[in-house]
Amino acid sequence: MQQSSNENDNKHRKNMQKLQWLRLSVQLIFLAILIGGLYKFVKPAFVVILPLAFLAGNFFCGWLCPFGTAQEVLGKIGSIFMRKKFKVSPNIQRYLQFSRYILAAIVFAHIADSLFDLSSINAYKPFMRAMSGNLAQTAATFIMLSFLVVALFFERPFCNYFCPEGIKFGLASLTRFLSIKRNAETCINCKCCDRACPMNIEVSKGNHVRNAQCINCFKCIAACPKRGTLTYDRVNPLDSLKK
Ligand code: SF4
Ligand code: SF4
Ligand code: SF4
Repeated sequence: MQQSSNENDNKHRKNMQKLQWLRLSVQLIFLAILIGGLYKFVKPAFVVILPLAFLAGNFFCGWLCPFGTAQEVLGKIGSIFMRKKFKVSPNIQRYLQFSRYILAAIVFAHIADSLFDLSSINAYKPFMRAMSGNLAQTAATFIMLSFLVVALFFERPFCNYFCPEGIKFGLASLTRFLSIKRNAETCINCKCCDRACPMNIEVSKGNHVRNAQCINCFKCIAACPKRGTLTYDRVNPLDSLKK
């Protein structure tokens, strides 16, 4: 009995690893498409990504966005030198997560037309457009590059606190019917899921994730030591309002 349970645990762990490899492969393909200058050819596919977010969560940020991928890849490189990344404490994160909305309001005040460009999928375009003039554009490029440096020791800094593009997909995902679901009865409160989350969500605190920060990376599920405790499953959007 115990042996079969261990086998199932191993199988589950391997499946989760495979899923993370699959996600990384998809991310790298989109990064290559961007580097190859072919991004405009895949852009029409993104009319599906936003409606999908309403139903199943934000797949764009966790699976496709090249700038998110760049931060994640640099994070992996950073892990070679520093196993544990810096994390903002939950008490500060609670407020700090709203910084990207404030920033988005400032960016949109400069380039109001972007507010209505729901098909936009370029994470750094709003920044670059908000900065007019050669000097400002150079400064904007420098700022974006510095985020990549910070990503070596802090997961997805730009996604967490600055990206105006990500909030579009994040807010859409608040109505999701499919999400990360936690079984409180089998949860041992080890908080591995919280530590694994690159968007600093306290997965262990609720029965399911309904948070505009979630990027559907499924790292929380992969990190959970209790097989079946965290799943990607059907959830009732109204449940989170009952608390
Ligand atoms: S938050 Fe912005 S930079 Fe991060 S993955 Fe989403 S769109 Fe890309
Ligand atoms: S680790 Fe889980 S909760 Fe955090 S962003 Fe990824 S899928 Fe969402
Ligand atoms: S990793 Fe799994 S068992 Fe640990 S706190 Fe999160 S849901 Fe519970």
